[in-house]
Amino acid sequence: MTASVINVVSFGYLHGAPPNAHLVLNLSEHFRDPHVSPALRYMDANGLPVRQAVLATPGISELICATSLLVDAYDVGPIDAPLTIAVGCAGGRHRAATVAMALADRLGKTGIPVHLEHRDLTKPVVERDGDGTVRPGDQLFIDYMVAFEASVLHTSGCPACGDDQPCEEGEAVWTRFVGLQDRWSSTQNRR
Ligand SMILES: [Zn+2]
Repeated sequence: MTASVINVVSFGYLHGAPPNAHLVLNLSEHFRDPHVSPALRYMDANGLPVRQAVLATPGISELICATSLLVDAYDVGPIDAPLTIAVGCAGGRHRAATVAMALADRLGKTGIPVHLEHRDLTKPVVERDGDGTVRPGDQLFIDYMVAFEASVLHTSGCPACGDDQPCEEGEAVWTRFVGLQDRWSSTQNRR
């Protein structure tokens, strides 16, 4: 192992040119996930449902594995220098950020210090088919998605709820999620 530090940078092509890097992974065309609902657009890779959807995309785990083999190859080289890996997708908020997180996690286990940076994670959602204006009701949608995530997180960490025997807290989280889902659905039906 000769790399002194590994920098992993996620970015979105729609926000600018790729950063300088030894390896650039472009996920913008080959790893679209048909199962990612348009709903998830307003969340980013900090949201568990987004990460789950991205990591379940066919080819993504192979890509992460292959990239870590490339890093091993750089590591065998004689020069002790920082290594930078850039991971890009269209907006930089879902696929690239998730893969960068997973890569950093995996590479961190080799013992080399890993520095993870998300260049465009907090940039606004890029509206590719609209006029870029925020529609009324989007805050409701965000609340609904946050409630959805809270419900997924609670259930995955609570043996009672995981076993379909909701605990008191789980019941409250679930009720909030269902309520927001109903409100959101009714705004959709009115449009
Ligand atoms: Zn529970």
